[in-house]
Amino acid sequence: MAYNIYSKYLKDKFGEKVYKLPINLPLSCPNRDGCIATGGCSFCGEEGGSFENLSNSIPVKEQILKNMNYIGKRYNAKKFIAYFQNFSNTYLPIEDFKTHIKESIIDNIVGISISTRPDCINDLYLEFLKEIKDEHDLDITIELGLQTVNYHSLVKINRGHTLGEFIDAVLKVKKYGLRVCTHLILNLPWDNMLDTIENAKFVSSLGIDEVKLHALYIVRGTRLGNQYENKEFEMITRDEYIERVIIFLEYLDPTIVIQRIIGRAPKDNALFVNWNESWWKIRDDIVLTMKSRDSYQGKKFDYLNGKAVRQFQN
Ligand code: SF4
Repeated sequence: MAYNIYSKYLKDKFGEKVYKLPINLPLSCPNRDGCIATGGCSFCGEEGGSFENLSNSIPVKEQILKNMNYIGKRYNAKKFIAYFQNFSNTYLPIEDFKTHIKESIIDNIVGISISTRPDCINDLYLEFLKEIKDEHDLDITIELGLQTVNYHSLVKINRGHTLGEFIDAVLKVKKYGLRVCTHLILNLPWDNMLDTIENAKFVSSLGIDEVKLHALYIVRGTRLGNQYENKEFEMITRDEYIERVIIFLEYLDPTIVIQRIIGRAPKDNALFVNWNESWWKIRDDIVLTMKSRDSYQGKKFDYLNGKAVRQFQN
């Protein structure tokens, strides 16, 4: 296998297919409401990070049951992960957070994934999640957006945090024995192949458990959308994206689980989405190219643990 695929990881761990069920909470984001900044990340549309959720006015348990019924029938699935997906799902008072999480623990839920920002997590939330994990024997993953290790690019896209906050969050989550998934965009306009390689080295050295890659999706009306229409930057080509993903995977620790190597995105209101091609065609091309080159995840993962002094131990 060219890379460590998430669906296989889940199947090996739980003995059968496991599907993620998106949950949509009525939330904001501190990078939008003025707590950290206003305007949000320059690529983020008003609706937050996702597009296939039920209404956030529906109670958590009901959202899960509806999606469970639909996905369960469609894919003959029996085990699921409750996925708190949109915006920053820990950006709310701790008691409200606890209520939502407890509501999601129902039959056939084997794990909980919580998407949030590095500046929205601390011991209070993590202590509670650790208790829940131990009490209910659940797989708990915190999905942290980073997007890039290039802190100059992080400022350009108005992330509202830099690498320091990200490292702090990862170390805290790991301290509680929870899993960390990191979201990265390998084709931010100001990044190059050096950033791609450093992205891989950075997440490998921090002990991140899972990675989700997206190609940049540009929405009309966002700050990034305006910059794109004003031709303030150019996007790399589809082939260059494929190259970056391959090199990223080669430098990545082979034990890191890959949730995605390219994201899906809605076409409505989009100025740029996956070079106008289906995400799965690009994914298939990445895999085929890797096979043709005898490339695989971890092929260049030889740089940690004192590479230079290894010679003296032989
Ligand atoms: S942190 Fe997420 S929800 Fe908040 S502005 Fe950025 S992309 Fe949007």
